[in-house]
Amino acid sequence: MSAADSKSIAIIGGGITGLTAAWRLHRAGYRVTVFEKNPTVGGVIRTTEQDGWLIEGGPTTLPQTPEIAALLTELGLENQRMTSSPAANTRFIVRDGHLIPAPAAFASLLTSPLFSISARLRIFRELLMRPRVRATDTSLANFFAAHFGREFLDYGLDPFVAGIYAGNPEKLSARYAFPRLWQLERTHGSLLRGFRTEARARLTRGETGSPPPLLSFAHGLQTLPNALAAALPSGSIRTDTVVTNIISNRPWKIISKHHDEVETSEFDAIILALPASGLAELVFGTLGERTLATLDHQPHPPVSSLFLGFKRDQVAHSLDGFGALIPAREHRNLLGIHFSSSLFPGRAPAGHVALTVFAGGARQPETARLTTARLLARVLPDLRELLGVSGEPVFVHHTFWPKAIPQYNLGHERFLEPLTRCENQHPGLFIGGNARDGISVPECLKSGTELARKTAEFLQKSPGKNRNF
Ligand SMILES: Cc1cc2nc3c(=O)[nH]c(=O)nc-3n(C[C@H](O)[C@H](O)[C@H](O)COP(=O)(O)OP(=O)(O)OC[C@H]3O[C@@H](n4cnc5c(N)ncnc54)[C@H](O)[C@@H]3O)c2cc1C
Repeated sequence: MSAADSKSIAIIGGGITGLTAAWRLHRAGYRVTVFEKNPTVGGVIRTTEQDGWLIEGGPTTLPQTPEIAALLTELGLENQRMTSSPAANTRFIVRDGHLIPAPAAFASLLTSPLFSISARLRIFRELLMRPRVRATDTSLANFFAAHFGREFLDYGLDPFVAGIYAGNPEKLSARYAFPRLWQLERTHGSLLRGFRTEARARLTRGETGSPPPLLSFAHGLQTLPNALAAALPSGSIRTDTVVTNIISNRPWKIISKHHDEVETSEFDAIILALPASGLAELVFGTLGERTLATLDHQPHPPVSSLFLGFKRDQVAHSLDGFGALIPAREHRNLLGIHFSSSLFPGRAPAGHVALTVFAGGARQPETARLTTARLLARVLPDLRELLGVSGEPVFVHHTFWPKAIPQYNLGHERFLEPLTRCENQHPGLFIGGNARDGISVPECLKSGTELARKTAEFLQKSPGKNRNF
């Protein structure tokens, strides 16, 4: 038995961050217990299969990053994975009620009908920008307007921000929401030149110029968290179990509740892989202190994801793309639409198509809160105009996220500081996930791996001797 075998780690939160951390630690020989308050693992990764339809309530695709490829090999999932159809490379942006392909390369940026001639010239001038180190953070809107001008902001940035964050570019922080672009401005000045340099470097390394197809699985994205959970020793996952208190002492004590049963258990280290609201609710110690209560103020606008099934002949549009993003200036009731059945086979019964409509976000939070019938009545006129949809959907599935995606807005530091302070005050406790480490699934995966590395390093008490994660 190695030293690692005798150490036990509690992982609170069974989303992709917590499960990745658990898997990495298990592979390194540690005993792990994952506490998950829901009946199933996966967190916001939520697939439902019903009557021949496959519905993704949360994220819909994964990019093929090296980390994800490695994980799929470790879990033996390669034979279940599906790659997106070539159509997925095309993303449309709505302008004046028409779907226009979003420029995928620099050349098409300069010729795209999405932008007026003066906006294209303004974009071209960006190539002349010199490296800049800003003393203070700025909004994404200011950042992009400085680079590309106002029209690009409205039709280039805003729809993508709606698609990624369901957020408001006037409020989002350039530094925290898009750290890669913040860094490119520092090193290259021009973001376009920065992208070009990175693309050339990829080609030199023998990688292809265009991004590889996106991934999912025959039974949807939930396959990944389910496989991570199944690969852990039996009894490692405790679903329907909410952790309420953490008592910092060697060993750590955790108070959890499974239905009405309260239990105290002991561990050598703790990982918190919770969303901001979960972190805020945790009670530390015996005096009722909610050390991370500030996290409750991290904005998370609501989003509704409405999965709609139609007979093929009810939709005039060819649906030959990933989907359509809707700029705020278009004054529609939607943030975006995925052409779900065009991405992967098996998402809709034969002779049918599936669309997933996203509504709400920071732009129109009240729309996300509508009942299914009202939401449908609100979005169908837009779908008729944009995609030539006729009649009523033959299948409807509504997923409501009251707190969908954390917004890394200006002033985001005030949510990061308490997390760092809490970790410093409690050696052996590590915090990750989308409140802090990035909102995308690949970033959460990386967060889980990093949490595992730091926890093992702490338990080994020899910072130089990292296990290979
Ligand atoms: C509608 C939507 C669409 C998205 N689309 C994409 C996309 O296309 N691409 C992409 O990359 N990302 C997307 N994201 C973002 C991405 O899916 C998430 O940021 C990521 O999955 C979060 O993973 P996590 O493990 O950090 O958190 P979560 O998935 O939130 O998991 C945390 C878990 O902790 C549990 N928990 C909370 N409190 C307690 C407690 N006290 N005790 C025990 N358990 C607790 C929760 O039940 C939950 O299961 C989307 C998100 C949403 C909401």
